[in-house]
Amino acid sequence: MPEGPEIRRAADELATAIAGQQITKIFFAFDHLKPYASRLQGQTVRQVTPRGKAILTRFSNDLTLYTHNQLYGRWLITADGEYPDSSRQLRLAIHTGDRTALLYSASDISILNDAELRQHPYVSRLGPDLLDPGIEAEQLAERLSGKQYRRRCLMGLLQDQRVMAGMGNYLCCEALHVAGIHPQQRPADLSANQLRRLTDSCLHLVRQSYETGGITNDMERATSLRQQGAPFEACRFHVYRRQGMPCYRCGTDIIKDRLCGRMGYLCPTCQRQ
Ligand SMILES: [Zn+2]
Repeated sequence: MPEGPEIRRAADELATAIAGQQITKIFFAFDHLKPYASRLQGQTVRQVTPRGKAILTRFSNDLTLYTHNQLYGRWLITADGEYPDSSRQLRLAIHTGDRTALLYSASDISILNDAELRQHPYVSRLGPDLLDPGIEAEQLAERLSGKQYRRRCLMGLLQDQRVMAGMGNYLCCEALHVAGIHPQQRPADLSANQLRRLTDSCLHLVRQSYETGGITNDMERATSLRQQGAPFEACRFHVYRRQGMPCYRCGTDIIKDRLCGRMGYLCPTCQRQ
């Protein structure tokens, strides 16, 4: 599933294509959304913003389009009126006279007014967004060590969007590795320094991944691997999808294991329990 950085990049692309533009035509595949087409035609797209793993597209009549791509949803931007050859199900098309934004395969789509948006079960419960420049590591460390969270396994806790928004499986495995912490530990097991190192890694890696299109590996190493001809996927990570390969730090084989109910990757030497 795409994580915070991928969603923000998709939202950026969508904003570049349609923000500030007037909607000439809008198509909804779902019957319950069709009545909104006439209310949105002629409106201007005010803003496109990511919220956790969802994207909010706000219109000049104060309605907001909520879309959550889950596993398969995908946005595609084309020149206006152009549809690609695709076997995917088209769920939504926003035409602006210059560009068309197409959403395929997503099923979690709704149109909300402000009151509905405030009470939305996903949006209203999101924790602080790691890509929000105002969020700091100290603040996150305090949050994780709070009574509500300190006894929960980190592998699940760091991916819970209500705790903090933006990390999924790959970012969680990578941040724990960089901080040298075993995924089955809990905030209560860590020293203040370890917890701070962990929240520093979370923030740093989420932001680096957003800026680089998905690289959480050390940038110097990733660049050097690329120059040696390695494919992009093979350069991106410290541990994620690297089971059986040597840890960059100590040479131990990376393992893949079920950790607190989720599949994850770690170095058993650098990340001891
Ligand atoms: Zn190691």
